[in-house]
Amino acid sequence: MSTITTPEEQRVVDQVPKQLYIGGEWRDGAKGSLSVEDPATGEPLCEVADASTDDAVAALDAAVGAAPEWAQHPPRERGEILRRAFEAITQRADELALLMTLEMGKPVTESKAEITYGAEFFRWFSEQAVRIDGRYAVAPNGQGRLLTMKQPVGPCLLITPWNFPLAMGTRKIGPAVAAGCTMVVKPAQQTPLSMLMLAKILEDVGLPKGVLNLITASSSSETMAPLISDSRLRKLSFTGSTEVGRKLMEQASQNLLRLSMELGGNAPFIVFDDADVDAAVQGALIAKMRNVGEACTAANRFHVAGGVADQFAEKLADKLGAMKVGRGTEDGVEVGPLIDASQRSKVSELVEDAIGRGAKAVVGGHARDGAGYFYDPTVLADVPEDARLLKEEIFGPVAPVKSFDDEEEAIAAANDTEYGLVAYVYTSNLKRALRVVERLETGMVGLNQGLVSNAAAPFGGIKQSGFGREGGPEGIEEYLETKYVAVNL
Ligand code: NAP
Repeated sequence: MSTITTPEEQRVVDQVPKQLYIGGEWRDGAKGSLSVEDPATGEPLCEVADASTDDAVAALDAAVGAAPEWAQHPPRERGEILRRAFEAITQRADELALLMTLEMGKPVTESKAEITYGAEFFRWFSEQAVRIDGRYAVAPNGQGRLLTMKQPVGPCLLITPWNFPLAMGTRKIGPAVAAGCTMVVKPAQQTPLSMLMLAKILEDVGLPKGVLNLITASSSSETMAPLISDSRLRKLSFTGSTEVGRKLMEQASQNLLRLSMELGGNAPFIVFDDADVDAAVQGALIAKMRNVGEACTAANRFHVAGGVADQFAEKLADKLGAMKVGRGTEDGVEVGPLIDASQRSKVSELVEDAIGRGAKAVVGGHARDGAGYFYDPTVLADVPEDARLLKEEIFGPVAPVKSFDDEEEAIAAANDTEYGLVAYVYTSNLKRALRVVERLETGMVGLNQGLVSNAAAPFGGIKQSGFGREGGPEGIEEYLETKYVAVNL
């Protein structure tokens, strides 16, 4: 049985190429096909190619073959290809958003926001391609000259997760293309369709054969391992869970690959008693509910000053409780399904654990019966210290609220995690804001705002949220090596 309900849904799914893209050719996977399902119904949408290890090696062969020419390709032309892809994605934003919602579940308006965000990386890096420079300096002793130049790292492997099916790709592909690197891209098996469309768009706007190669596979570990151990690969850029990131780092140590690791998060959202509580609730709504809570940047725990904690929890509960839950394609839906049954069970388990230890559900607290993987937007108050969801990534529409007495306690609680991706701080006191921001152990901070993602800014974490930065002027550095030439004069 198919889940598709309208001719437009059928059209956007039909137009996706379902094969592997290797060396500029679309071809079948040696292992047959794998099914992609609609998380709103649990029913299949379509099938895409299932790659074997030989297919994956062929993709790397193509990336290696195209590397010398692409490294020499005029930067202006590399940038213009990205610019044309930005225009094409923008023009087709509606259909790409519908496709994304069908495979990933979030409401179409949110998918559209991701398309815009994802396309922005292509626009940004189209502008960066012509700004790769070097340095010329007189040696301190005056005897010689120091020359540095930036060169593409070489063939890259880019592995992306299901939660942002397009943007997690463009923020790697954009800088790789701009820098002159070739690549093998592997999207998550649950959401390959957006990336397949992206490969088609890049082909249509003139990306040369072999620069980007795309593999979809039912066994990531099996297909990716031979590439990671292949001495021709130069870099691995991974976005996904910390657990898988650790495994990949271990494998990558064999060839000392350049690495970028964009891993899990456990973002604290701190509200001081001098904050504008309504603005904080509004920011919390974005930080928590964007992407149905399935974002590495999702506010995972709310630390709120004792004097305003109840008020904050009630206002947030009113907002979350009023949100319409349903299939992301339906009008007015604000909360789609979670990605699959196991993600929903994990959310249920974490909520039950917190309630079992004394937390109270101000709103929600339950999975929905029926088809699809829906979970009610939930606010938990009086969350005890030992509740698992204060330590683990929830990845769902659940907001645990915990109160604090003073600034010191708030900072200590915020930093009490192995993760360090992002934190949010709400305060109207500038001195406090800077004091707290400086002491937070995260790669990013949202100061009086609930969203940090921006193609012009360096996105990334510290601690077990990984390392490396995507976006901003920093983003392209991940794909460049510095060569130093000692010049005898
Ligand atoms: P995941 O299970 O780690 O998977 C991520 C990607 O890695 C998928 O393409 C997956 O393929 C692949 N993979 C899994 N095991 C592999 C292996 N042994 N070898 C090679 N590839 C392997 O993560 P996820 O569940 O898709 O995504 C959610 C996680 O991503 C969360 O922890 C979230 O915080 C994190 N995330 C971080 C950022 C950031 O920028 N810091 C952004 C978005 C998401 P399969 O689909 O075949 O399993």
